[in-house]
Amino acid sequence: MRRVLILGGTAEARALAAELTERGVPVVSSLAGRVATPRLPAGEVRLGGFGGPDGLAAWLTEAKIGALVDATHPFAAKMTASAVEAAERTGTPLLTLRRPGWREGPEDDWRRVPSLEAAAALLAAPMRVFLTTGRRSLPVFTGLPGVWLLARSVDPPESPVPDHVHVLLARGPYTVEGELALIREHRLDMLVTKDSGGTMTTPKLDAARRSGLPVIMVDRPPPPPGLRQVDTVRAAADWAQG
Ligand code: NAP
Repeated sequence: MRRVLILGGTAEARALAAELTERGVPVVSSLAGRVATPRLPAGEVRLGGFGGPDGLAAWLTEAKIGALVDATHPFAAKMTASAVEAAERTGTPLLTLRRPGWREGPEDDWRRVPSLEAAAALLAAPMRVFLTTGRRSLPVFTGLPGVWLLARSVDPPESPVPDHVHVLLARGPYTVEGELALIREHRLDMLVTKDSGGTMTTPKLDAARRSGLPVIMVDRPPPPPGLRQVDTVRAAADWAQG
C-alpha cells in the first residue's frame, strides 16, 4: 500500500487522516507549526516547513511517499504551489482536497474583493469592524483612521496592537447565538472575512445576515492551472488508497 503525505492544517485534512488510518493506509500529516497547540490528526505527524519545493521534493523521496494530498487551507497558496512543483519533479501523484467556497444567499449583503488590501480600501471611518481574516493579516487593517477592529484569531498577533484594536482569542466551531452576541456587544457594523468555506465558521455569516450586517468577502487566490481537485474527504480517501 502506498504511503500518503497529507499537507494539512484543516478540518478536512484531519478527517482524511482519520479515514485513511481507519482503512489501514499508512499516512503522514504535515502541519506548518504556526498554531501553538494544533489539533493533531490520527497517524504520523511532522511539523514545520520543508524549505520550499526543493525541500519538499527531497522529503517526498526520502520518506518514500507514493501519493500526496494537498488538503491545506484554500488561502495557503504558497504551500499549494510548492506541492505542485515538488510533485511534478518527483513524479508523485498529487490530489488537492478543497472545501467549496461560500455562496451568497438572497438575504445576504456581501461585497466580494480580490485581496485583503482591497477589503481594507472599502473601510471608511467611523466603522466598527469584525475582522476574521487571521492574525497575520492584521497589519493591513490597523492603520485605518477611525476604523475600530474586533480581530478574532486562534493565537495572539505577533506584535502589539494599537488601542483601537480589540483582540479576541478563540477557535471555532462557533455558534450563531455567540456571533450575534458579539455583534451586539461590540456594536459591529461590518464583517470582513476570507472565503474559507466549510461549516466551522459559517455562524458569523448567519449572524451577519440576521443582523443586517454587510460582509466584505475576500476571494480565494486562484489555484495553479491543471490541479486535480476534489471537494470531499471520501473522494480524496478513495484516490489516496489507490
Ligand atoms: P502558506 O502561506 O501557503 O505557506 C507558507 C509556508 O509555510 C510554506 O511555504 C511552507 O514552508 C509552510 N507550510 C504551509 N503549510 C504547511 C504544511 N501543511 N506543512 C508544512 N509546511 C507548511 O500557508 P499559510 O497560509 O501560512 O498556512 C499555514 C498552515 O495553516 C497550513 O497548514 C494551512 O492549511 C493552515 N491554515 C491556513 C489558514 C489561512 O488562512 N491561510 C487558515 C487555517 C489554517 P516551506 O516553504 O518551508 O515548505
